[in-house]
Amino acid sequence: MQGLTEAFRRLLNIVLPVECAGCGAALSGDPVPFFCRSCWADISPIDGPVCPRCGRPFASPMALTFSPDHICGSCRKKPPAYTKAWSLYPYTPPLRDALRLFKYRGKVALAEALGNLWHTSSMPEHLDLVIPVPIHPSRLREREFNQALLLADRLNRTLRRPLSFDNLIRLRPTVPQTDLSRSARLKNLRRAFAVQRPNDVREKRILLIDDVFTTGTTVNECAKALRKAGAADVYVCTLARTI
Ligand SMILES: [Zn+2]
Ligand SMILES: [Zn+2]
Repeated sequence: MQGLTEAFRRLLNIVLPVECAGCGAALSGDPVPFFCRSCWADISPIDGPVCPRCGRPFASPMALTFSPDHICGSCRKKPPAYTKAWSLYPYTPPLRDALRLFKYRGKVALAEALGNLWHTSSMPEHLDLVIPVPIHPSRLREREFNQALLLADRLNRTLRRPLSFDNLIRLRPTVPQTDLSRSARLKNLRRAFAVQRPNDVREKRILLIDDVFTTGTTVNECAKALRKAGAADVYVCTLARTI
């Protein structure tokens, strides 16, 4: 049966050439859907010093040499509601293309490969709960899945913590964040999240999961709602980060 499926797949590839979404090379038997082996291998982690609070990369590699706890200007000016945020990879091609195909074009087949990019080496030791950033029900109806939940579920196969996906909710649909200026983004997201059962998060150390960290407004608003409900700590881990 496996052989037949493979033969059928090859036949399909001849009839309808499937090209790598990254480089356009013809795909055949590559393990990750939509991407060739060599493009996928180009995905490499964020390296270099980052703000230990919000994960923002520092321009100078010297930034943390003499003061490892040095936090960035915006965290000093306005400390975020979360305890710590970090991201694993820069939001650049081919990961950016993969996340877009996954999220906006419904290519759920990529969930497995994207999920395999997680690693748990930088995780805090004690975590009580994993929560994906929620999307509004109207968005869920049109997209049919919450990308953050699918990614959190993959990560949680290693972490093995309780995964909560219906307690933190999104109250309003939001206009696509990328179309807005920073001040409009803030306004759009203010009090956009709520915790339905505060008892379930009280005193808990929570890991919040999202696909991309852009300005951090979304995760910070989620963290505010969780902290207001009594969460002890909110850690934020995203697969990618705009650089
Ligand atoms: Zn390629
Ligand atoms: Zn910072």
